[in-house]
Formats: sequence, structure tokens, C-alpha cells
Amino acid sequence: MYANVIVDIVHENVAHTFTYRIPDQMHVERGQRVSVPFGYQQKEGVVLTVTDSADIPSERMKSITSVLEDYPAILPHLVDLAMEMAEQNHCPLAETIRLMMPSEMRGGRVRIKTQQVVRLKVGPERFEEALEHEKRSSRRRMILCFLQDGEKHAVAELKEEMNNPLPDIRKLQENGWVTLTEEEYLRQPGGPVHADRAYEPELTELQRETLQEILPSLAKGVGSFLLHGVTGSGKTEVFIRLVHETLKAGLGAIILVPEIALTPQMVDWFRARFGEGSAVLHSRLSVGERFDEWRRIRRGDARVVIGARSAVFAPVEHLGLIVIDEEHEATYVSDRHPRYDAREVAASRCRREGATLLLASATPSVTSFYKAKKGEYRLLDMPERIGGRPLPEVTVVDMRRELNEGNRSVFSRQLAQALLDCRQKGRQAMLLMNHRGYHSFVSCRSCGHVVKCPNCDVALTYHLGKGGQLHCHYCGHAENPPEKCPECGSTRIRYFGAGTQQVEEALYQQFPGIRVLRMDTDTTSGKDGHAKILEAFRSGEADVLVGTQMIAKGLDFPSVTVVGVIAADMTLNLPDYRARERTFQLLTQVAGRAGRGREKGLVIVQSYKPEDAVICAAARQDYRGFFEEELERRRVALYPPFTVMARLLVESPDAGAAKRHVEVLYNRCEQLFQEYPAFREVCLLMHMEQPPLSMLRGKSRYQLLFKLHVKPETERIAAALSDMSREEIPGLDIYFEYNPTTMM
Ligand code: ADP
Ligand code: ZN
Ligand code: ZN
Repeated sequence: MYANVIVDIVHENVAHTFTYRIPDQMHVERGQRVSVPFGYQQKEGVVLTVTDSADIPSERMKSITSVLEDYPAILPHLVDLAMEMAEQNHCPLAETIRLMMPSEMRGGRVRIKTQQVVRLKVGPERFEEALEHEKRSSRRRMILCFLQDGEKHAVAELKEEMNNPLPDIRKLQENGWVTLTEEEYLRQPGGPVHADRAYEPELTELQRETLQEILPSLAKGVGSFLLHGVTGSGKTEVFIRLVHETLKAGLGAIILVPEIALTPQMVDWFRARFGEGSAVLHSRLSVGERFDEWRRIRRGDARVVIGARSAVFAPVEHLGLIVIDEEHEATYVSDRHPRYDAREVAASRCRREGATLLLASATPSVTSFYKAKKGEYRLLDMPERIGGRPLPEVTVVDMRRELNEGNRSVFSRQLAQALLDCRQKGRQAMLLMNHRGYHSFVSCRSCGHVVKCPNCDVALTYHLGKGGQLHCHYCGHAENPPEKCPECGSTRIRYFGAGTQQVEEALYQQFPGIRVLRMDTDTTSGKDGHAKILEAFRSGEADVLVGTQMIAKGLDFPSVTVVGVIAADMTLNLPDYRARERTFQLLTQVAGRAGRGREKGLVIVQSYKPEDAVICAAARQDYRGFFEEELERRRVALYPPFTVMARLLVESPDAGAAKRHVEVLYNRCEQLFQEYPAFREVCLLMHMEQPPLSMLRGKSRYQLLFKLHVKPETERIAAALSDMSREEIPGLDIYFEYNPTTMM
């Protein structure tokens, strides 16, 4: 027998598979990891197929050295998925195969922990006989009684009962009463389960109807849905019931959330309901924990997986359901190579494995909603909040007027009043300020010079602490603020723009005695940093939570009645065709944090452009209105989903080299268009330029930006452009991005 093996080397010339002989006593299956001779080295590889014939003369063929695990680490369906992704992304299979297992598994870097396990060898009918036989040793009788339940017990458990039980266990083993074995031991992450959340509420009419729409598809094993449910409509409970039904049918489920750290409640709910049967996968787990969770899933001990983006590859056998919560979040697209969109991977997995796909959001991405309108997904609506609670009332405040009428505070008069009332009633408030630090930039009043990062083309942000320093939010560079302008020598240095630190300080000044928690990248760096702040806020340790967009995610704090958006225009002005979509999502999501308890919520949005259609639609929480207008705008301006954006990005510490290479690429594309006129027709726009971030981490950046029609040739152009990015040139980094997540 022979095996085709993909060897774990990422190199242009080894993108194909190699055939090895399978030694006679060895059993090998598709997806199994093996060690093989490769040149003069031993390499790891994954078996793609097992055949009984090979086209190479067999005397020259090498044999598989050993199997790395005695089970296929990569499920056959996931081998197929890796192959499909390699083809679509135009990248080596070895790269996509790596996505299918914990990285720690490669190169034998994780140790499997084992423990000694003991259990009765005889059935209950011989238990008395055993006790009688051991009547002279009270210790051995005690051990037998401990094991009377017939279950496996760790020797460590017995050590809590008596000193050094091993010699007696060995004796019992010799006498044939117990078995002592060395078994794998799995670390399980996560703190205590909050049992009170295990309570199952009676479903509302809307929840029941939604469930009824999806259940038939769960039974049939096909179907994809987009659930548009307003904030607080009880989507999570729908997911939980679906998972129950999936398990009942003997199938497994994967629940994707944007970021585990920001959704501790969701994880708690799932752990409370599914306990040991659930596994959590995310990047903050330790190496060993992640590997062990992965093993529990692979062995089928955990049938429910909750995790961030990469959990879409979890080795769940007999998959029945994938849920993607907050499907509009940008975190579902990986920015590392090989790039993938978890929503597309999930769709592919569901199709292949006969599972149901459910995307859900209060603010679906324009692309997903458009797909639903075209019939690619069944659209389900949950337009009302649980218990008939009203959506919060949103007021937009014109900050130009505030300024004209002499209010220079970061808080408008309405917001200040709302915060005051909220505090008097003993309720809580959340304030969104989508920029961390104290001042967003520092500039010279005499010549207008803005202090920038030496490594990146961005203004430095002023942060309090350590005597006050300027920080770069892209590369981490820090320096002391200048006393004189480095350009003209003037001492008229001024600080502009607010950040979260300034909002926090303004709260202390305007509301003496107020208790504030701040949540941004600066305050959440430690392990469980997010969870600690959220827990403190939940238990009432603060009146106000100030934070960046991380506070806008699916948090459910019933005592929050006021939400304030300090500067709604901030995301609106970003140079990205999705800036309007992102702003709508952010405003609607953060507004949705208010009034989730008994009391009605009040949301105050501060803007210098209150007449803007996006801000108005968000204020009305009118997704459809926003969608229709945005879709029309994109149709006219030829933006996705009507076209595809792509770019070839060149980065180099040597600006000249980057510029020269982007010109080379430009000419190569021109040549390509000459050879294939069909390509030119597909390409609506090809633009050579520096991206808005013209320098990043010390590297100059140039790009070719493409706007492509959606046609059969589009994929072929993408393949050709992707090939151009694979060329290895010393001193240059070349990236190809299809539908880039950021245009910066
Ligand atoms: P969404 O994710 O749609 O914003 P959640 O799933 O967070 O909404 O639900 C909002 C709140 O309603 C949560 O506190 C949840 O526990 C509660 N809830 C959900 N379903 C029910 C129900 N059927 N009866 C009572 N409370 C419910
Ligand atoms: Zn100056
Ligand atoms: Zn920088």
C-alpha cells in the first residue's frame, strides 16, 4: 500500500504531494499525520490518500517512518476543505492544512500529560469476594470501597484519602481486583461555571417561530439562514435551543463569536448549559490548554464548540450546526496568511458536511444582507426586544451648536444631564469614545506641524501616565512630548482631540465622586483584563464605563440605562468605502446596550454632522433604511457587493525600492491585459498610489488598487495577481489582498 503525503514545508516548489510506501504492519488513514524521510531530513506530513498502486518504481520509493498519532488528526472533510481553500487562495496546501490543527501540534511541541488511573477489574457480583480476600489490609479495603462505583479514578484522588496509596494499588492489581493504567489527562480552561445561568426561560413567540423555521433544516442537513434580530431580541437563547436539538440528533455544533474576551457572558451561558460537553477555543488559552480542548473535541468528548474565528476549523465529527454571532464583525476575516473569511469557510463546511448555517446580527453586513435578499440565505427577522421592551430612545446632539453656545466640555448639556439623572437613580451608563489615550494629536500653533511617529505615517497620541508620553497606536513607539516644535522651534505646542483618558478625567471633574471604569487596549492588556473590568462593572463597582468600540459588542448589563457616544463622526471620516457601514453598526450596537433591563434606555449621540443619513438611520435604529440607501450608493459608485476590491501592496524599508516594484507590477498588469483583453474588461479601475498609511513600522508602502467586475474571469485575474505577490524579492514584502479588510 502507498500513501500520498503533503509534506509540511511551505515552499513554492514543494506544493505537490509525495508518494511513500506504507510498511506492512503500519495502519494509515486519510488525514493521519506521519513522519517521512525528505531529502536528508525527517519531516512531518499529512496523508491525503491511500492507494494500492504507485507510478514510481517501488525500489526507489521511501517508506513512511512512523505515524505521529494513532488517529487521523485531520478529519477527511477538513482535508477536503484545506484542498479547496488552497485552490481558492492560490496558496500551498501545506499552508491551509496548518489551519486545521493547533499550531503547537506541529514539530511535536506539546507534551501529552498523563496520569495514573485505577478502577475495579471485577464486577459488583465479586466485590464482596474481593473485600473478603483483602480482609487483612484495611488500606486495601478502603481502596476497594473507594472504587466501588466502578468508575475510573485518578490515583491523585486516592492520595487525598491516604498517604502513598500506590504500593497497595499495585498489590490489588497483582491479586487481580483492579487495573492500573496510564491515561491521557486533559487540562480544562475556564473558571467556575455560574450555575444560576443554567435556568431555561420560556421562549417568546418570536423565538419559537424563529426556531420553527430552522428546525426542519437541521433535520434535513441543508440550509443557511441570516437572522436579523434587534439588540436584546434574545438571539442567544435561540442558539442554545438549536444546539440542544443538534445534540439530540447526535450531531455536533460550532458557535463562533467575534472575540472571546469580549463575550464572556456568552461563554458562561454555554458552559452553564452544556458543561463538560462544551469546549472553548481562543487565542488566549495557554498552549497546553488549547491542545487539550482540541483533543476533547477530536475525541468527541466535547460536542459543542464555542470560539473565535479559527474555531470554524474545529475537528467536530458529524457536524450539524454552525452559528456565527454578530456576523458583521470584521474579526471574522483573518488578516494573516493564508487569509480566509470564517463566514465563507463555515458555508463551505456546512455544504460539505450537511450542516445548517446560521448567521446572526442586529446589524448584518451589507454583503450578507444582500445575499439574503438574493436568496442565498433565508432571511429571518426578530424585530422586537424580549418582554416587549422598547428599543432605546436616541437623541442626536449637534456639537456645533454646543460649541457656538459656549459649551467646551466633551459632554453636551443633554448628555451631562442624562448622566446626572442616571447617577441619581443609581443606574449605570456607558460612554463610547473610539480613540484611546488623552489627546489624539499634538501640533505646533505657529507652523501647523503635527508630531508624527518616526516609523509610521500617523500622528502620535498623548497618553497620561509615566509623566505623559506620546504613543504610536500602530507600532508601539513612545517618546516624550517636544518642548519646541521640531520644525520651526516655536514653543506654542498645543494638544488636540479627545481620547478615552480625557473623557474619564472630564467625568471626575464634572461629576465629583463619580466612579469610572475605563476599557480600552491600555487597560485590558493582562490575562483576563477584559473579564475583570466587565465583572467589576456588572457588580456595580462603577457608575460609568468609558471605552472604545470594545464596549459596543454583545454585552448585556440590565442596569445600564444611559449610553453616550462622545464623537459619532470619528469612524465616518475614515478613508474606506465601508466607513458608513461601520459607523452605522457601531452606533446601533452601542445604542443596543441601553435599556436591556426594566427601565427604558436613553442614548445620546454627539455629532458635528447630525444631518448625515447614517447617523439619522442609526438614531432611528432603522437597519432597512440604512441598507437600502447604502446599497444604492454602492451600486452607483461601483463598490462591493457589486464589484470586488483587491490590492497588491508592496512594503519596504527602502521607499525607492517599493515604488520601483509597484511600477514593475503596474506594467506587468498592463501586459496581462494586453494578452487577455477579457481581463481588461473585468478591471474597472487600476490605481497606483500610496495607501493612507503610507509608512508603517518603518516600511514605506505603495499599492495597486483594483476594482473588478464580478464575472467568471474575476477569479482568474485574482489568481494572476496573487501569483505576482508570491515572488520572493529580498527587502520587499508583497501582499495580495482580495476584498481587503482595511483600506489603510
Ligand atoms: P441579543 O443577543 O439578541 O441582543 P440576548 O440573547 O442577549 O439578546 O438576550 C437579551 C436578554 O433577554 C438576556 O438577558 C436574556 O437572558 C434574556 N432572554 C432571552 N430570551 C428570553 C426569554 N424567552 N424570556 C426571558 N428572558 C429572555
Ligand atoms: Zn512649528
Ligand atoms: Zn508607529
